Amino acid sequence: MQSTHARLSLLAAPAVLLVLAGCAAPTQPGTDAHDAGASWSYDGTGSPEHWGALADEYAACGTGAQQSPIDLPTARGDAELDLVGSGAVAGLTADNGHTVQFTADDGASTTIAGQDLDLVQMHFHAGSEHTVDGDPAEAEFHFVHADDRGALTVVGVLAERGAHNAAYESYIAGATAGAGRESAVDIEAMLPQIRSFATYEGSLTTPPCTEGVRWIVLENTIELGADQLADLEAAHVENARPVQPLGDRSVRHAL
Ligand SMILES: [Zn+2]
Repeated sequence: MQSTHARLSLLAAPAVLLVLAGCAAPTQPGTDAHDAGASWSYDGTGSPEHWGALADEYAACGTGAQQSPIDLPTARGDAELDLVGSGAVAGLTADNGHTVQFTADDGASTTIAGQDLDLVQMHFHAGSEHTVDGDPAEAEFHFVHADDRGALTVVGVLAERGAHNAAYESYIAGATAGAGRESAVDIEAMLPQIRSFATYEGSLTTPPCTEGVRWIVLENTIELGADQLADLEAAHVENARPVQPLGDRSVRHAL
């Protein structure tokens, strides 16, 4: 999951402050890891196995016990996700150096299991970060939501090569534009028709790897045309963190 955009930093800030409030040390400006963090990457000295040692704020990347992504079990086809989008949502699509991120305009929301959540941003990884029985998909999209306290819920959608997908045209046009471009996403149109899912407690998949993120990964994949996948991969490829140990956690199939 990508988290470097300033708007998400603001939303994540309450969690940072809560942590600091438990310490004797006074809170200080500049402790927001999103802004102050060391540079990281997917290869070389800044690669995922080194993230935890790159900066104090990234420690969870190395020592956290509830990290994402994970390998998911075979699809079970249980209850479907109760998600209601708000139609086409406008925003800015721009490359942030690690992925291409659509940042929704203020007021964009999604209702999940009856709870209204802000749609903060969406972005992609190629190949996928979550795997199923050890197998990655061609790509994975993350729809990042926050509740009114800043707690994050990320809906993950796995994509395979197949038919052209009109619902992704606006976003992918932004991905190929280089500089920022206005585009629109309609979450419901971008999800698979059948919405059974796996859910678990995890983390951001990019530094600072903050935990307390509710993950909902849909079991059915979507299709993207070969040209669409190629356009995404031309922007970023192999921008996926390897799967992390499940540890004591369990993967559930209902919210
Ligand atoms: Zn992501």
